[in-house]
Amino acid sequence: MADGAGRTGTIHTPHGDIDTPAFVPVGTKATVKAVLPETMADLGAQAVLANAYHLYLQPGPDIVDEAGGLGAFMNWPGPTFTDSGGFQVLSLGSGFRKVLAMDTERHRADDIVAPGKDRLARVDDDGVTFTSHLDGSTHRFTPEVSMGIQHRLGADIIFAFDELTTLVNTREYQQRSVQRTHEWAIRCLVEHRRLTAAAPDRPAQALFGVVQGAQYEDLRRAATRGLVGIGNEAGPAQGCEFDGYGIGGALEKQNLATIIGWVVDELPEDKPRHLLGISEPDDLFAAVAAGADTFDCVSPSRVARNAAIYSADGRYNITGARYRRDFTPLDPECDCHTCAHYTRAYIHHLFKAKEILSATLCTIHNERFIVRLVDRIRTSIGAGDFAELREETLGRYYSKSS
Ligand SMILES: [Zn+2]
Repeated sequence: MADGAGRTGTIHTPHGDIDTPAFVPVGTKATVKAVLPETMADLGAQAVLANAYHLYLQPGPDIVDEAGGLGAFMNWPGPTFTDSGGFQVLSLGSGFRKVLAMDTERHRADDIVAPGKDRLARVDDDGVTFTSHLDGSTHRFTPEVSMGIQHRLGADIIFAFDELTTLVNTREYQQRSVQRTHEWAIRCLVEHRRLTAAAPDRPAQALFGVVQGAQYEDLRRAATRGLVGIGNEAGPAQGCEFDGYGIGGALEKQNLATIIGWVVDELPEDKPRHLLGISEPDDLFAAVAAGADTFDCVSPSRVARNAAIYSADGRYNITGARYRRDFTPLDPECDCHTCAHYTRAYIHHLFKAKEILSATLCTIHNERFIVRLVDRIRTSIGAGDFAELREETLGRYYSKSS
């Protein structure tokens, strides 16, 4: 494709179909914070993504498994995703935050440790040893451990265990890391095949490989070709292939579309492409135009709890004094439950009074805003007016800062 106008499709899972492009809300600990799963379905979420690292530490994958898997455990009947835990063991485990990846002043190259903190995660060629952010206990993730956890969690779409790098890692380190992630991808495929064969009665899980390579074109392309061609290599994963691909790692906003473009160039047409961790409107349009199909991000709910509201005219903070007597909805053009029944003045009051209902109402609105935006993008691709929607939507969204 690469015609810059995006593509539409359908991902089939044992728990239903996902029409793409689609935004996948994040329920890190098997809950989209403050919102009922039923409400997430009502607001149009087609799938949810939970986090293998968090569910491994609490309550433990064995408990989720006994409950009948992630969807049954959390009363979400639709499709589910889990990420591999790779990002969290290296970010939470070490106290390193992704946002700091842009902050080159505060980190030494190749040193995954936050300033003033002990080094809490160690990567070697076999896996990662890390310290729990909950109780300080020591744990180890390897590709096989991640596959075992994700099989017990039972999500429809799971991800290969990969190494998180940052933009401050040296090129030499990125190169080594891409090779390591490739070796881990082979081990993930082999273990996934073994676990799948050992439990033939369970719903089939799709395994996505994760493309790393940071901001380097040659590394991104080589990493992608390597993952796509893995089944042709002589070795333990011969004959195996990934069911889809995730695009991960350090992505600078200004290079997002370019990097996705390199990766998509090397990917097969007939496999889904998931972009990990984006939800800003301009990023969503750029990613769809470059050929990505699904996206997950924790931002709509995280910022909602901090009173940041998405609207057609941009993002604003509802705690501002100007909203005290504003009896209009959060976004007059929104069709969500919150906007149909509640006012800015009421939600402003809830935040000022520190009432937890503020989180619920704002999360419903923000999740609906992003889900609906991506739904409209999907419709526009079908109708042939993606470019018009992009120009109109972003022109308005970024026209003023309120
Ligand atoms: Zn709304």
